[in-house]
Amino acid sequence: MKKLMAANWKMYKTWDEARGTAEELVGLAAGKLPADREVLVFPPFTALKAVGDVLGPVAGFSAGGQDYYIQEEGAFTGEIAPKMLKDAGASFGLTGHSERRHVLGENDEYVGAKTAYGLKEGLKVILCIGELIEERKAGRVHEVLERQLRAGLKDVPTDIDPERLSVAYEPVWAIGTGEVAGPAEIVEAHEFTRKILVSIFWKKANEMRILYGGSVKPGNCAEIIALDNVDGVLVGGASLQGQSFSEIVLA
Ligand code: PGA
Repeated sequence: MKKLMAANWKMYKTWDEARGTAEELVGLAAGKLPADREVLVFPPFTALKAVGDVLGPVAGFSAGGQDYYIQEEGAFTGEIAPKMLKDAGASFGLTGHSERRHVLGENDEYVGAKTAYGLKEGLKVILCIGELIEERKAGRVHEVLERQLRAGLKDVPTDIDPERLSVAYEPVWAIGTGEVAGPAEIVEAHEFTRKILVSIFWKKANEMRILYGGSVKPGNCAEIIALDNVDGVLVGGASLQGQSFSEIVLA
């Protein structure tokens, strides 16, 4: 199983800036990328084609869409369909990110519909899950993760190619805060996530990647990526510069 090193650029970068960062990243990391690692960038929609054009031809690099709607096409102002993402060079889609759940108001059910739809339309999908700080303090981490996983994966066929489905554990209190979950907290949450995946997909669950996200940086990535059941990282802030993300990718 290759480790997946993913960058989430959120609502940052014009297309020209995005293309420049993608080029810088390829320049710094492509020649040194270990065979057991894969690099993925989620630019904003407007820069997807530019970034896809840079990353697509480079072995081990790909681009993804940060979001998509659950219809093939139609009167859905402002929305983007998976086939449009693929047309612009994306092979991955992202679902359940905490900003979409907690800022844009997406619920578990919609995240589940989106995850299944993206897979059906041929995207590889990363489903994000993670608890709020109040939920952690109340001892409800397992309950929240299990609920988000079961709802998020409810309509995913159990014979899915395990390489096409990943989960990112991103404790909400660690996203963009500089506060990283400790190794024991990460291992515990990832082990629990694996257990739920096994209960749904059986043996295949061991071939699904579980990423960690939340204040990953060049200085902490090597330690995190070496933990049990950590099969990659999803990086926000520290992925915006080619230099720092290339250090993460190669850590
Ligand atoms: P961060 O964001 O690395 O800035 O904490 C992670 C994410 O939102 O995926």
